[in-house]
Formats: sequence, C-alpha cells, structure tokens
Amino acid sequence: MRKWMILSLCWAASLVGEPADVIFFGGDIITVNDQQPDAEAVTIKGNKIVFVGDKKTAFEQKGEKTELVDLQGKTLMPGFIDPHTHVILDALITASIDVSPFKYKTIGEVTNVLKEASKKGSVLAFGYDPSLMTDPGHLNFETLDAISTEVPIVVVNKSGHIAYGNHKAFEVANINDATPKPVGGSYQKDKEGHLTGLGYEVPAVGQLISAVNKISPDQYPKMTRDALKVYAAAGYTTVTDLGLGLPLPTQDAHIKLMSDVSNAPDAIMRVQGFLVTNLLDKIPALRKQNNAMFQVLGLKIWADGSIQGYTAAMKQNYKDSDTKGTLNFSQKQLTEIVMNARKQGIQVAVHANGDQAIEDTITAFEKAQEAYPSNDPRFRIEHATVTDPDQWKRIAKVKATPSFTEHHLYYWGDAFQDKILGNPRAEWLDAAKTAKDLGLKFSFNDDSLAPAQPLLFIQVAATRKTDDGRELNPQQKISIDDAIKGVTLYPAWQSFREKELGSIEPGKFADFVVLDQNPKKVDVNKIKDIKVVGRWLNGKHD
Ligand SMILES: [Zn+2]
Repeated sequence: MRKWMILSLCWAASLVGEPADVIFFGGDIITVNDQQPDAEAVTIKGNKIVFVGDKKTAFEQKGEKTELVDLQGKTLMPGFIDPHTHVILDALITASIDVSPFKYKTIGEVTNVLKEASKKGSVLAFGYDPSLMTDPGHLNFETLDAISTEVPIVVVNKSGHIAYGNHKAFEVANINDATPKPVGGSYQKDKEGHLTGLGYEVPAVGQLISAVNKISPDQYPKMTRDALKVYAAAGYTTVTDLGLGLPLPTQDAHIKLMSDVSNAPDAIMRVQGFLVTNLLDKIPALRKQNNAMFQVLGLKIWADGSIQGYTAAMKQNYKDSDTKGTLNFSQKQLTEIVMNARKQGIQVAVHANGDQAIEDTITAFEKAQEAYPSNDPRFRIEHATVTDPDQWKRIAKVKATPSFTEHHLYYWGDAFQDKILGNPRAEWLDAAKTAKDLGLKFSFNDDSLAPAQPLLFIQVAATRKTDDGRELNPQQKISIDDAIKGVTLYPAWQSFREKELGSIEPGKFADFVVLDQNPKKVDVNKIKDIKVVGRWLNGKHD
C-alpha cells in the first residue's frame, strides 16, 4: 500500500508542471480525504487527478489548451459510488406495470390495474407491498385466477423476494405440486401440499418472471444503458450490481450486457458486480478481464428474504405474527459456500436482513477465517438491517463490512416500528453509528427498492428521519462527513478500489459530481433536495 502511494505521488508529481487538461476552482471542494478535507482547486490530466490544493499552484499548470471550470459557488465532490443495486432489474421494473404502494394503497386498485393489463396479454407487474398499503388484501391463486385463467399474470413484491402468480403463470413456468424446491428458494404450499401461487427468493421469482417476460434479447442493451442513465443523473460514477448473472435474459447474457455497456467507448458509468451464487466457478476467469470500467468483484449469496415481506430470518417472531421468516440455507450449506469462495480468495457479499440470517452469516465468516485466514477479507454483509450489539462485536472481529439499505429506514421505518418488527428491533435498523464506533467502514445502498438517491442516504444517516419525519433511534445518527464517506470512499474500499476511486486525491480517477449546494452547509433536512448539476467520468464532462 505504502509503495503504491509513493509511486502514485511520484507519478502525480511528475505531471505537475505539465499543463493540466482541466482546472476546477471557484467553489467548495469536498475531497473526502481526511488528510486534506478541503481545497481551493483541483487539476486533472487525461482521466486522472493531478493536483489538489491552493488556487495559485493549480493555475501554475494552466497551459494554452487548459479548460478552466469556474464552479461559481457550486460544490465539487467525488462521484458517488453505489455499493449495491440491480441495474437490469431496474430496466425490467421500468418496462413492467407499476403496482407499488407509492402509487396504489389498496388491493382493489392493484387488481383493477392487473385486470386492465391482462386484456393485452401476459402480465408482469412489480412493486406490490402489503406492508405499506392501507388495505393490502392477498395476492395468490384465488385472487389472480379471478382476474384471468387464460393469461399468465406474475406480480413481484417490491422487495424482489416474493412473486405471486395465477395458475396459468405457474403452468407456463412449468411449476406444479411435484416440482422440487429450487436451491435457495421455494414455492408456498398449503397443508395438503398444493401450490398457493407464491414463489420465494431469487430462483423461484426468476422462474416466474421468465414465464411472462415479453422483452426480447435485442431490447436489453438499450434498456440497460437507460437504466444506468438514472444513476448518472443522481451523480453516480460507479455502480455495483449485486446480482450479476440473474437470468435476464440468460445468466451469461446478463454478465455480457453489463460488461458491454460499461466497456463501450461512450460508456456513462463504471460497473462492477458480484456473481450470483451458482456461478462461483466463472469468477476467476472473468476477473482476469477486469479493467477500470468493468470489474467482477466476487460472489453474492442470499441468506434470507426481506423484512417487509416477512421472509427475512429473525430470531424471534415478527410483531403480532407467528412467523420468524426463513433461511435460504442451513448453517452448514451457507458456511460451505462461503468457505469455498474464501479458499479461492474470492470476496463474498451475503444478503442478510434478519438477525438470525446475520447470525448465521457471521458464523460462516468466522469458520472461513479459521480455515483460510486473511488479514483483509472484507466480507460484506448486505443490508445488515436488524442486528444487536453482540453481533456487531463479532462483525468487527471477523473484519466484515456492512452495506445498509437506507431506503428501508426512510420509506419503511415507520412500518418496521409499528407493524412489522416493533422496538427495540426497529431501533437497530441500519446501525451505522455502532459500526462506526467499532472502526468499521460501511456504505449506503438503494437495492433497487426506489431510485438511488445518494443525497437522501446522507440525510437519512445523519438525521435518522423517516419520510414522515419521525426520528428512528437518534443514537444511530452519524456526522455528515461520515455519511458522505458511505456513498464515496467506503464503497470504494468495500470493492478493494480505494486507491483509485472514492475521493479527490492525486493519482485517482477524475470522477466527480457537481452539486448546486454544499451538503455540509445546508439544513440537514434538505440535503435530499440538493441538485446534481454536473458530472465528470474519467476526466470527461457529461
Ligand atoms: Zn439486492
């Protein structure tokens, strides 16, 4: 590390004196570098940052062709780094019928929309979420067959972890009472062993989606690029797909789409990702093709489902409920998968929402560390939603790192507290302060639950306020500086890329976002309203 830093500084120093391509000045510059938090000016050459410091020295690099960017009071920051999302799923959601609770609050409204859509053929709808509806009802064979027995209908829960279908959809998907449960997923059955119309977890949900997905393979490249434009507009310069190899349209095509879109000459985003669990063997070869625009980082494992869907695995029953959710793997299976990756030096990212899934995940990490010790494994816990103090001590000891889904707190925080979990469990939601106090790095993600909003994540982490303005456990508030790290430097670190991304330092890539206001200077409750007014990727303006 030290050797690299010296080389990088020498390299950067060697360019000082040569004319810069661009000089930024005239506004606040948040570097996210603790050694040099503010600067008057930044210079870049090609796609790299050369100098960060005072304006006078920066202007010594001004040549005939140097572009001068006067920020005019705006704020320059490192480009945002998304640590966990699902890009092609976003594209599919955009192309599907929206039945989310942000649009419809009752089952009657949802079934009306589905009925109307079914007149035009098979139906794929996204976003149904009983936890945020006033009259949620139930989606199952009964309610969906009542809409149509001829046309296949599939509705995906907002969490992505549950799909609801009519009999026709299950028939087209080739799933019947005798179908064995897929690895890491299941189909709900009644006491007599008959399917009820619900599929759980990625393998089952994916199979049902495939049955009604009308998008042809040639439509995917444009859809993928369009989906990335949404992240670009939010100020992201890197996104991390936590499900590379989902069968959209096929497992291999999914990886190729993401690689092609980020390696294209006119690419708008760096893309990196974790391959779905069954593709472990493909990782070493794919990693050899890694470059600065596209990187395969490691392996994704889903240990449980979603809290709002009551499928995340809890130690105790959900509030006013007789279920604890479900684990997708036994402890033995989970440990084996983690060990297998660790043995090959492959980073793992385990989706674990409930405190039981988190417990099993920590145990798997501990066992992997015993068998194949590493000083720097950067085991990732995706979501780490409901935790307790003892678990955090173990997470720190095993050197794991959490990525919190701040949309949970903002949109579902009230429902977690009142309906789904109750306190104290809801208060432990996204415990960033506890993580920080233990010296852990953390990141904030959208997980495709709602559009990615890094500025909202900063606000939520610093205020702990839900969309209704309720404060959920103020003890877990962190400073704005730390919250900013959660959308820049820390996700770079979680990807082993902190030497090239995540802060404004000489030698790093010139990936920036320009904001109309400084998040450290506005009212903390208004950070989400700050506008992204510019973005630079690889030294080039959008
Ligand atoms: Zn996810």
